[in-house]
Amino acid sequence: MLSFDEALARLLDAALPVAEIRSVPLAAACGRVLAQSQFSSQDVPPLDNAAMDGYALRCADVPVAGTALPISQRIPAGSVGAPLMPGTAARIFTGAPVPPGADAVVMQELAEPAAEGRVLIQEVPKPGQHIRRAGEDIAAGAEILPAGIRLGPAHLGLAASVGLAALPVYRRLRVALLSTGNELAEPGEPLAPGQIYNANRHFLRPLLEGFGCEVRDLGRVPDDLAALRQALRQAAAENDLIVSTGGVSVGEADHVKAAVEAEGELELWKIAIKPGKPLAFGKVGAGGTAFIGLPGNPVASFVTCLLLVRPFVLKRMGMTQWRPRRRRVLAASSWPKADKRREFLRARLDGEGRAELFPNQGSGVLSSCVWAEGLIDNPPGRAFAAGDEVEFIALADLMG
Ligand code: AMP
Ligand code: MG
Repeated sequence: MLSFDEALARLLDAALPVAEIRSVPLAAACGRVLAQSQFSSQDVPPLDNAAMDGYALRCADVPVAGTALPISQRIPAGSVGAPLMPGTAARIFTGAPVPPGADAVVMQELAEPAAEGRVLIQEVPKPGQHIRRAGEDIAAGAEILPAGIRLGPAHLGLAASVGLAALPVYRRLRVALLSTGNELAEPGEPLAPGQIYNANRHFLRPLLEGFGCEVRDLGRVPDDLAALRQALRQAAAENDLIVSTGGVSVGEADHVKAAVEAEGELELWKIAIKPGKPLAFGKVGAGGTAFIGLPGNPVASFVTCLLLVRPFVLKRMGMTQWRPRRRRVLAASSWPKADKRREFLRARLDGEGRAELFPNQGSGVLSSCVWAEGLIDNPPGRAFAAGDEVEFIALADLMG
């Protein structure tokens, strides 16, 4: 048996980033992986500017509260004023550049317009007050976004704030999805005796899309060597990765191993984890399209997709960070029976932040994945009692 860490290391070793980089406009860049670090060519904000609507002035001209100053100019946002005449105030609005010579802005609530175009300043201002300094957000030349991150709304806003209209991103990984099993029917179809509905494809597709992949769902494939080989050939032609479910155990109807071996190379792994022991990893076709065969049991398929497929595809898409955050929390439930394998138990946090276990941890019980907010990563051979510390990984941290 392989340990989880060995299996992950082998997958990551084989996960070379896609070579193609393309420039996409900001509007199309959300969720994509940045291929080159980005730097700012300018200061943000570009000039010292007013943080408030009010009056720009020289502190030295207001020695006491109640000083009246003539208003010498008006500077709305979007225009640039003239140097401030000594002994005067400039009417100024939020975001407008502070005129040379002014060293403070007094907010309009503390300034009262008076006769003959003057304004009564009702506080003694402090130098620098209500002025946003040039470059206080970003200095010219600074790195604003490192390569290898997934771009989210804030990243796009920051890129826009330095004037970038497009960003270089890695091509999305193209993933073909195959569901094996003669017993599978599709939702919407009547269920014949002995059949079950195909659940796996309906969570795998959105999971893979959430990782940023372009998914082609090739549907069901019967448990038949020729049919599987044909499906693999078709999937390999246009995709970077083939993900299948089912058929990787060693039963008579499990033809995935033979089919992948006939079309390429395959290693069948027994990983010392629960759920998710059998997993197949290989290559198909002349182009060496990667192949990952997930177990058929829905929970095993779900958990291995999050813990093993996710890092593989994120690394292939150029991401540098795929390790989920882990938290030490107290267990609210006990887990009295230690297992030889490392377990990923479906759990959620109660009002006190303690991890409660779903009562049925069976690898076919998909309700546990809906109920759970995370996985307890329980090392081999460990039983625990309520009140013991356990390691918790939030499902939300494994989704993107
Ligand atoms: P297998 O790995 O093919 O032996 O499948 C293990 C178990 O998972 C069997 O009970 C299958 O019926 C079930 N199973 C396999 N594929 C799916 C699927 N796509 N959706 C729901 N259950 C499945
Ligand atoms: Mg099967």
